[in-house]
Amino acid sequence: MTFLRSLNCLFYTIICFYNIGDYYIFANKSKVNIMAWYIHNKNKQPLAQQSKKELFIKCKKCHSHIYYKEWFNNLNVCPNCNYHGSITSHERIHLLFDHDTFQELFANISPVDSLGFNDLKGRYADKIEATKTKTGINEAVITGVGKMNGINVVMAIMDFRFLGGSLGSATGEKILRASNYAYENHIPYIIISASGGARMQEGTLSLMQMAKTCAGISRLNQKHIPFISVLTNPTTGGVTASYAMMGDINIAEPGALIGFAGRRVIEQTIGQKLPEDFQTAEYLLKHGFIDSIVNRKDLKEFLSNMLNYYNR
Ligand SMILES: [Zn+2]
Repeated sequence: MTFLRSLNCLFYTIICFYNIGDYYIFANKSKVNIMAWYIHNKNKQPLAQQSKKELFIKCKKCHSHIYYKEWFNNLNVCPNCNYHGSITSHERIHLLFDHDTFQELFANISPVDSLGFNDLKGRYADKIEATKTKTGINEAVITGVGKMNGINVVMAIMDFRFLGGSLGSATGEKILRASNYAYENHIPYIIISASGGARMQEGTLSLMQMAKTCAGISRLNQKHIPFISVLTNPTTGGVTASYAMMGDINIAEPGALIGFAGRRVIEQTIGQKLPEDFQTAEYLLKHGFIDSIVNRKDLKEFLSNMLNYYNR
């Protein structure tokens, strides 16, 4: 009993953190007892719902706990170390477009399981449906047109939540059609990339999207229509190897991982240790692969300024 009492005491005196994915809930001693702790730990979801006021985010870079509201108001960027956290395509639209000006284009295009692909986790077709339900979007990219500080722009915004932002046939088709729309209507084109690369479940069909999207985008040159590529964390594989690096201006968010093959693969191939900051936006800027690094809060201003220069 004495042991149990001291154990009880210990739980009352410490501050408990409950890990719920990226979220940490900070529960102080006045609100928790051992039984409640046990119940909540067994079933974390109800606690997350009940304790939204006490919700904290843990920064992946500096590991500090940031009040959720502060994190959200700071556009999912850490106020301590400027780590740029992930952001959904809808949040991007809200951030970049003037209020109520965004019109989605080609929303009806969604992935098709042309190869009847199966892996150990199940059918690709089932995975597509599950991801659609989970994310509320039907492809790894949202395409549309709208105004940014009064300037018309066509934009393709990738969403990493949808199968790792992978480039499938429908993703490529939407990016190409958005490019064609920009071409036909003489509107600047911007792609915000966030991708793990080509969609393996679609095999060669997915790799073909690299050539297809690049062909569409290069056509913009004929009419001197600007194309700006924004690389966010992460932009890797076939996306980096195609349209993401084709911008008249290529810019990136701070700290973004940008590369083709992974660090381990390269190290094993060349038999050398790579620099610590290899494949970061900062490394790429230093070596001339990108033109600028822009903080998320400044992105809208930066892009509209660039387009204004083009319009002069
Ligand atoms: Zn941080």
